[in-house]
Amino acid sequence: MSARACVIGAGFGGLALAIRLQSAGVATTLIEARDKPGGRAYVWERDGFTFDAGPTVITDPACLAELWQLSGHVMADDVELMPVSPFYRLNWPDGTQFDYSGDERALAQQILKLCPDDLEGYERFLAYSAEVYREGYVKLGAVPFLSFTAMIKAAPALVKNQAWRSVYSMVSSYIKNEKLREALSFHTLLVGGNPFTTSAIYALIHKLEQDGGVWWAKGGTGQLVAGMVRHFERLGGTMRLHDPVIHVETIGNRATAVETRSGWRGQFDAVASNGDLVHTYRDLLSASPSAQAEARKLLDKRWSPSLFVVHFGVEGTWPGIPHHMILFGPRYKGLLADIYDHGVLPADFSIYLHHPTVTDPSMAPSGKSTFYALVPVAHLGKLPIDWEQVGPILEKRILDEVGRRLIPDIHDRIVTKFHYAPRDFALDLSAHLGSAFSLEPLLTQSAWFRAHNRDDKIRNFYLVGAGTHPGAGIPGVVGSAKATARLMLEDLQR
Ligand SMILES: Cc1cc2nc3c(=O)[nH]c(=O)nc-3n(C[C@H](O)[C@H](O)[C@H](O)COP(=O)(O)OP(=O)(O)OC[C@H]3O[C@@H](n4cnc5c(N)ncnc54)[C@H](O)[C@@H]3O)c2cc1C
Repeated sequence: MSARACVIGAGFGGLALAIRLQSAGVATTLIEARDKPGGRAYVWERDGFTFDAGPTVITDPACLAELWQLSGHVMADDVELMPVSPFYRLNWPDGTQFDYSGDERALAQQILKLCPDDLEGYERFLAYSAEVYREGYVKLGAVPFLSFTAMIKAAPALVKNQAWRSVYSMVSSYIKNEKLREALSFHTLLVGGNPFTTSAIYALIHKLEQDGGVWWAKGGTGQLVAGMVRHFERLGGTMRLHDPVIHVETIGNRATAVETRSGWRGQFDAVASNGDLVHTYRDLLSASPSAQAEARKLLDKRWSPSLFVVHFGVEGTWPGIPHHMILFGPRYKGLLADIYDHGVLPADFSIYLHHPTVTDPSMAPSGKSTFYALVPVAHLGKLPIDWEQVGPILEKRILDEVGRRLIPDIHDRIVTKFHYAPRDFALDLSAHLGSAFSLEPLLTQSAWFRAHNRDDKIRNFYLVGAGTHPGAGIPGVVGSAKATARLMLEDLQR
């Protein structure tokens, strides 16, 4: 194929799409605004510590391995994946602990310890999760929903699996114990969804993890990104870093060229954007009336919340703190309502604590440990506060809580620390309202109701990444790349 394609943005979705196109013989140029690829999976090196900015829980490794298999290569030559167990340790303020793992017997033991009455209900929930995993992920996870007909075809499965109910409501129909309900429903937060409003279809994440495991890329998620870039360039792809696209030129209903801030300009047969949806339509396609109309529609959608992440490196090693921990706060539903609906900064919080050095000591200097503590916060549209002022206060409160629950002398042990706030998402990633996960994964914003993988009007302009079907998370955006690549390759062969 002598076609030329441009992919704007080197997040996981953009990288996966670029690899798929280049593997199929399309001369692909991947253009990234920032100095490093990865998008939400950016990486910082500070004082000998490696800090991954975003994704840390790698699930469905098969969807990544496929990107190498397409051209007869082997992922393991570029990236070493290490299993993580338990998947997560969940901890509540009263001291209750629950190790959530992929080992069926160990998980059953944990459930028996927490609430013996719920074991039978858990087994029924697992069967439900397996069913929605098959219907929602295996069958439809990489299908482009371009027409309403595609949505109608999916409707019987949605009805059968009661997709209108929330994950929490569905979990509660099987499970009586409140803590176990939280343990089996919090996963939607990892893709930007409130368990109380996100469609029950997202209960599929449980089965996805049970079957595919939870993994860690040796050297950090940044090494997975680096491996993808190496693979793309080995295939002959071209990468431009640190040069934001400022304009996508169109003639009639076709995208023809791309212009970057440095003044570079390239002509292409097809253009795809992995950038934020509003930024793509409003800014990059500013001369297209249909794109401006699309941008206005997007402004009315519900955007997922932002995040506040404290990165810190400490003296000492912590073999007793597992790789992934959730430190639940005293409230669950109320806390989520504050973040998703009320737009206030609550006095309490639930923390996701990431501790990579327990799996991979190479993430810190010898005898030291790397951590990040993440709390969801309302996006800038709901909570327009001055993060420069609030950031240091929230950072201290979060570190105090980690200290109270896990590392008593944390402040004395800290070697280096910094935080990442909603305005950083907005500034670094052009993320609308500083949202961490793009459009909220509501049923009314899923599949055909989400941004389409190919624009409805500009016939050779495509989208890939968290704003498209099936949504955020590495498996989601890698699935969206599969759907978008299929469309692009079909169109380019016409
Ligand atoms: C803190 C955090 C933790 C997370 N944890 C997990 C996890 O453990 N597991 C998991 O599976 N998922 C996790 N996620 C979600 C997951 O990281 C994201 O959904 C996914 O990485 C988004 O990928 P994307 O393809 O949509 O692109 P993004 O990562 O959003 O990247 C888009 C890229 O486009 C670039 N760009 C934008 N505009 C332009 C332009 N004009 N010109 C050139 N380039 C441009 C940006 O700079 C960026 O590099 C997490 C997210 C966050 C924020």
